[in-house]
Amino acid sequence: MPLNFIDNQSIASASGRTLPVIDPSDGQPYDEIPRSDGRDIDAAVQAARRCFEGPWGKLNAAERGRLLIALSHKIAEHANELTAIEQRDCGKPTKQAAADATALARYFEFYAGACDKLHGDTLPYQNGYSVLTWREPHGVTGHVIPWNYPMQIFGRSVGGALAAGNVCVVKPSEDACLSLIRVAQLAAEVGFPAGAINIVTGYGHEVGDALARHAGIDHISFTGSPKVGTLIQQAAAERHCPVTLELGGKSPQIVFADADLDAAIPVIINAIVQNAGQTCSAGSRVLIERGIYGQLIGRLGKAFEALRVGPAAMDLDVGPLIRHTQQQRVWDFLSDAQAAGIATIAQGHVVDEAPETGFYQAPVLLADVPVAHRVAQEEVFGPVLSAMPFDDEEHAVQLANATRFGLVAGVWTRDGARQFRLARRVKSGQVFVNNYGAGGGVELPFGGYKSSGHGREKGFEALYGFTTLKTVAIRHG
Ligand code: NAD
Repeated sequence: MPLNFIDNQSIASASGRTLPVIDPSDGQPYDEIPRSDGRDIDAAVQAARRCFEGPWGKLNAAERGRLLIALSHKIAEHANELTAIEQRDCGKPTKQAAADATALARYFEFYAGACDKLHGDTLPYQNGYSVLTWREPHGVTGHVIPWNYPMQIFGRSVGGALAAGNVCVVKPSEDACLSLIRVAQLAAEVGFPAGAINIVTGYGHEVGDALARHAGIDHISFTGSPKVGTLIQQAAAERHCPVTLELGGKSPQIVFADADLDAAIPVIINAIVQNAGQTCSAGSRVLIERGIYGQLIGRLGKAFEALRVGPAAMDLDVGPLIRHTQQQRVWDFLSDAQAAGIATIAQGHVVDEAPETGFYQAPVLLADVPVAHRVAQEEVFGPVLSAMPFDDEEHAVQLANATRFGLVAGVWTRDGARQFRLARRVKSGQVFVNNYGAGGGVELPFGGYKSSGHGREKGFEALYGFTTLKTVAIRHG
């Protein structure tokens, strides 16, 4: 049974209690994880603090970088093993799980190189002074991770925090944590000192809450739902602990009549079916200029009908959803849409080999979705694409910005000036023009406007969030 990883030791929860690990492809339990509580978080925070004030704090930036690159190489060596773990735990088709393992190695490679490039500044001030700024690590950072991309989100969050000189206590999702326990073991094998990376598993309302409230946590990086993001921020506010929130999205793909539809269609499809639509930056709305609305809906519909859904190991277009409650959530949205008279234009199909006990959902294309309907406003977190027409550029911008989210947007047009106008006016943390990367790009700062969160992870920018700035003014005459 996989155990917590604290102080470079594998240990059971203090309570001795466990939770089952369920395979989404057949809905059956196949392992157990510790059901931890505040005592386990406390042990992890103490181990992390000892490490920060001891061996980790003594490393210089280049030495930290060498450890991170060693971990990157180790992850690459174990990519097949990590792919297999993630595939079964999350129900990911092989190519998706393999892409996540590759991205994890790449995050550690990127942040390894960044360790000794992060520096402060010297500032002009009064005569007789020298003023400089230092970028200092927060200390012990807490990382609360969701189930949809455990390896990728660990890579961007923990990779950035370590590069900036912090040590980490990680609370993965109770629905998917096995790969992260393994990565922490691999980190110990390449020489990370005890306490640098600690993994504590269990329920969010128990162990996640304990992490958010722990006085020894100096910064929290939370990736998950807006609702839990609010709870985390409230808990952190009690002790003025800085927080980065990476929350949900309702990201639009905006397609103008002059777009290259041959290029756009496969990207639009992938952006909603990747990871069975369980992606914060899924392109879950497609806004189409009225002149090509019928044509594009027809072509998207044909592509949807060809999509096949099945067990992760079959490596089809779409795997299962993470759990039964997620499946029910998607059914709920679809039955509300049906009750509102929203037309289902097309859907993919679940293959015969898929066990009935698995959590499958065929991708669905909905057309003429009213902007105020909840399927156009809220995260479905399943493979459901809502299409709606727009009349002109002004209308497109208005629809694009008409949700409480602002994570990513795609703009499809050959008009160069319009590309810039749209990129300026759409309120989202990333805008892709004539392409779309669901969360794409290790190097690219990522994060939200509005209810999609605040702060940025990924890229070099993340390192500013994982450090605090000290100004030193020296009067020397
Ligand atoms: P969730 O908010 O339910 O859970 C996220 C994490 O928070 C889990 O580890 C969970 O155990 C923990 N948690 C739950 N309740 C808690 C509490 N009271 N206190 C502390 N921790 C608690 O989200 P989820 O269902 O795992 O993931 C899906 C959500 O994550 C979606 O909204 C999605 O958009 C979002 N997400 C955002 C990004 C991004 O980068 N913006 C990336 C991936 C997922």
